[in-house]
Amino acid sequence: MNTKIVKSTCGHCQSGCGVLIHMQGDSITRIEGDPASPVNKGVLCVKGKASLAYLHHPDRLTHPLKRAGERGEGKWQRVSWDEALDTVAEGFIKTKTSYGAESLVFMRGSFKGGFQGTYLARFANAFGAPNIASMASVCYVPRVHGSVLTYGYTPVPDYANPPACIVVWGANLAETRIGEYEQTVQALDKGAKLIVVDPRRIDLAQRAAIWLQPRPGSDLALALGMINSIITDGLYDKAFVRDWTVGFEELKEHVHKYAPDIVEGITWVKAADIKKAAALYATHKPGVIQIGNAIDHNMNNVQTARAVAILRAITGNLGVPGGEVACSSTGILNPLGSPELDLRDKISKEERAKRLDAATGMLPMAYYALPQTIVKAVLHADPYPIHAGFIQGGNMLLTYSNAQEVYQAFKRMDFLAVADMFMTPTAAMADIVLPVGTYLEFNDIVAPPYYPVVQVQQKVAQVGECRSDYEIMRGLAERLDLAEYFWEKETECLDFILEPAGLTFEEFREIGVLQGEKEYRKHERDGFATPSGKAELFSDRLKEWGFDPIPVYREPEGMPLSAPDLVEEFPLVLTSWKSAPFRHSGGRQIAPLRDAHPNPVVWLHPDTARRHGIGDGDWVDIETKQGRIKQQAHVTADIDPRVAGVDYAWWFPEEGPEGQYGWHEANINMLTADHVPAGSEMGTPTLRGIVCKISKAK
Ligand code: SF4
Repeated sequence: MNTKIVKSTCGHCQSGCGVLIHMQGDSITRIEGDPASPVNKGVLCVKGKASLAYLHHPDRLTHPLKRAGERGEGKWQRVSWDEALDTVAEGFIKTKTSYGAESLVFMRGSFKGGFQGTYLARFANAFGAPNIASMASVCYVPRVHGSVLTYGYTPVPDYANPPACIVVWGANLAETRIGEYEQTVQALDKGAKLIVVDPRRIDLAQRAAIWLQPRPGSDLALALGMINSIITDGLYDKAFVRDWTVGFEELKEHVHKYAPDIVEGITWVKAADIKKAAALYATHKPGVIQIGNAIDHNMNNVQTARAVAILRAITGNLGVPGGEVACSSTGILNPLGSPELDLRDKISKEERAKRLDAATGMLPMAYYALPQTIVKAVLHADPYPIHAGFIQGGNMLLTYSNAQEVYQAFKRMDFLAVADMFMTPTAAMADIVLPVGTYLEFNDIVAPPYYPVVQVQQKVAQVGECRSDYEIMRGLAERLDLAEYFWEKETECLDFILEPAGLTFEEFREIGVLQGEKEYRKHERDGFATPSGKAELFSDRLKEWGFDPIPVYREPEGMPLSAPDLVEEFPLVLTSWKSAPFRHSGGRQIAPLRDAHPNPVVWLHPDTARRHGIGDGDWVDIETKQGRIKQQAHVTADIDPRVAGVDYAWWFPEEGPEGQYGWHEANINMLTADHVPAGSEMGTPTLRGIVCKISKAK
């Protein structure tokens, strides 16, 4: 039998690790990391290693389903693709005709690595529907805005040279960004100093010269304290500040308010440690700061990313070898959105203006509808009713804040279609469920967010009648007179994406990877891509749009300093993270992953556990003003005694539809509220740092 090795890219998270798929005839015999991939250099995480367990899982959705009982009851009828797509198209038309296209919402789950989200936006814009929801307000995009607003690009850490100081801030690299983890470890082996900023002792904290444990959610205050310390102690890069920044005097004046002893009162981090960390970063050059998802989770997210961007700028760590650098394009259409692909100009201005949140006052480049606004629109017709929805690979009952209301909203919808790989609690609320392939079942181009790289993804398998997200959008477009916007074959669309690079997808299969080049000291040639041409410590644009031109720390809602009346009843502070075996709510039914992490776990310090009579392995009730859940205690000195570290996005596939897949039992979003904070750049509710209490479960 023919044996061959196919180069591809893992799609079980956004990291985009290169894989080599070993085939015998049509069967996959083995998947290993691709040593030639610039992203992971041969390493795979546990999720990637479980790719075949995903592919062949007996619970995979393999054909379309139509609801046959009450909504959420779990009764389904198998239907053909034609019937399923006809029903979805009919649902869309009925909604548009009766209530207007704005009454239909398209919701994306987390980034899959390829262009699926763009296809959804393309469809929505061609259909004339303004409401597209993504996870932009809670993941990665705030960090992009913070950097781009300050100096015009998202910098890439230059590990090739390597850095003398690395700051890992709210980023659990070992479990969620494995390629960067490996690069960080190699740089440490070559002598780089490490600062870890995390309320718990993550893996890398063992190697840190300084480990700061801030109060969850107070990162912006900490960054401002470090800026203060660097300026006060004269440790900033004077030549870079003079030649390449604007607003230094205003910044210097502004950060008087954030002297380390004041910041200690906000963040719990000792003033002396703030000064030590600031000095280490400012004097061990070049340096990089790796920020993670933790800073995305409250209304200060863009300003926190701005403050970190300012730290990079005033220390002269931009554009230098071993620092953080701009990269040239990989040559293909921009994976983060290009008008030719997402057809943003196709929708009329009038219809676009009807977007939910258009009047909320977010950043002008934020064009998504916020999850919490959609839920309110469904439940209260405010500012107008949403009647129907389409979900592309998302489990919103687990991932949207205030899960109880999300559940009520799904129950209330006239029509809901969900495309996913497995039956999830969210898919269970649908009228139509469409089966989607894993990354092994369709061709794609993968653009991992943290690298200037695109890689090939190749179809090597077919499970049941599963289709790709592209094929689903194309099928719907055909039924809605929109076929002209979707090429007949997915590979033709990929050809279009590759066109600027002068390649077809067939040619790209052979090459497998395109890389942007690091552009050292690009600003010295071109200036920074900002209105002033400099790194903007003070941003006139933000001021003009009504936001803080220099970051100001404001305690987000539901946290100890904004809700002092709650602190007596809810004395602990809640945070959360993603554990290695699971990506968001995915993977709970995959045996090797679940075996590695069978139950949702809350990390508690021994002193805290003892005070509450809780032992390791006991089940614990965790409660906020919003609701209550149960998770199992992991008693460890690796977390601050004032913090409860809760597992994210848990549900129990084994409970089946009768038990509603246990979506409400351990789900952290039973504990979060969904208020849209006034005047924030991205409209992000407080997801970490809120006050909570614990007790031993009865
Ligand atoms: S880190 Fe993500 S892309 Fe890499 S192997 Fe794991 S799941 Fe796959």
